[in-house]
Amino acid sequence: VEKRVQSYIDDVFTMIKRRDPHETEFHQTVSVIFKSIKPALVKNPAYIEHQILEQIVEPEKLITFRVPWVDDQGKTQVNRGYRVQFNSAIGPYKGGLRFHPTVNTSIVKFLGFQQIFKNALTGQPIGGGKGGSDFDPKGKSDMEIMRFCQSFMTELANYIGPNTDVPAGDIGVGSKEIGYMFGQYKKIRGNFEAGVLTGKGLNYGGSLARKEATGYGLIYFVSEMLKGKKEKIKGKRVVVSGSGNVSIYAMEKAIELGAKVVACSDSDGYVYDEKNGIDLDTVKRLKEVEKGRISDYIDAHPTAVYKENCKDIWNIPCDIALPCATQNELDEKAAAALVRNGTAYVAEGANMPCTPEAIHIFLKNDVYYGPGKAANAGGVAVSSLEMGQNSSRMAWSFEEVETRLQEIMRDIYKNCEQAAKMYEKEGNLVVGANIAGFIKVADAMIELGVV
Ligand code: GLU
Repeated sequence: VEKRVQSYIDDVFTMIKRRDPHETEFHQTVSVIFKSIKPALVKNPAYIEHQILEQIVEPEKLITFRVPWVDDQGKTQVNRGYRVQFNSAIGPYKGGLRFHPTVNTSIVKFLGFQQIFKNALTGQPIGGGKGGSDFDPKGKSDMEIMRFCQSFMTELANYIGPNTDVPAGDIGVGSKEIGYMFGQYKKIRGNFEAGVLTGKGLNYGGSLARKEATGYGLIYFVSEMLKGKKEKIKGKRVVVSGSGNVSIYAMEKAIELGAKVVACSDSDGYVYDEKNGIDLDTVKRLKEVEKGRISDYIDAHPTAVYKENCKDIWNIPCDIALPCATQNELDEKAAAALVRNGTAYVAEGANMPCTPEAIHIFLKNDVYYGPGKAANAGGVAVSSLEMGQNSSRMAWSFEEVETRLQEIMRDIYKNCEQAAKMYEKEGNLVVGANIAGFIKVADAMIELGVV
């Protein structure tokens, strides 16, 4: 049976590579996921009989569109917009929008594919999708961002809706961009459909604790990992890459629970303060208010050092490493450095920040590794709670949302751990997360028939 399953997996993988030879990030995530769900295919032949893998790797719909907008000089600019509606077996497509120059079909497909399993893991009724644009918000004026968002939504509005597809933010898309897009959607529809986007501002249907959810959820997940090893987060040294939404609120919760955050970064470099730890108020001021660079951190904190080359952040000794910046930011070399320095836990706040080679090194060296689709699922989980509040026309308190988030992260950890155990890969949360997510979606696909 094992041989037959392996050759089935190989055939499907060869097919997607032949179809779209240049989509390297997409191939990377498919390869990792296929490898880890193999035990589930061996155990249940129905997945092969129903050709679930061929079906699941093909997006239900992939939309690309022109996004023309006028810059402050009066010149017309053209970007490309994307939305991949990957899988709606268990609920409407759900997933963020990323505005970054690196966005292309491979990137949205890798993110969308992972989102299917992540969303299933949350236990919420949401399918998988993702989108974005190669538009670079860096250095753009507020009005340019508004005009871009409006143009982007003018086309995207044709494909989304509260029961169809519900986008949210990702890199380069925060509540400001969501606000402009929601305004345009509302105008086009002539209806107030709050549940069409999540991550909204609090004045028009956003949920309390959504902004904090990914980072807080990550730390709740890490706390469960620690509990699994009979340890506590208190007193642990933490290194967090990135200084966006995920990383800032991961730092906040880690510090609140008594950990010491010794370093953080942005795409230019990192700051390190072993003695005093990172001062979050300064990071928040620099990144959330001034939209500046992390290099300015040392002006306010002379005991800190700044180093250009953000990738070197993984050379810093720590107990817990939290990559919260972007895909493939933590490679083989970085993983080896972490192992050398005795790091015991790695959990992903970003999507696919660790390369397959890095993951291999962690698993081989007993570094307890929490994959992003489990560890960072708190963001999309609270997005789903936001949809729930919108459709019931209610707004929950911060505590209410946070308690639900905490329960969800606990359940995700438990499910991953149990799935790993059941398939004889105890302690391997990659296998656990992928299998638990896959089974739910694959079973639903079989129940819904060939559609
Ligand atoms: N972009 C986030 C993620 O990667 C959140 C998506 C959402 O809230 O829909 O999961």
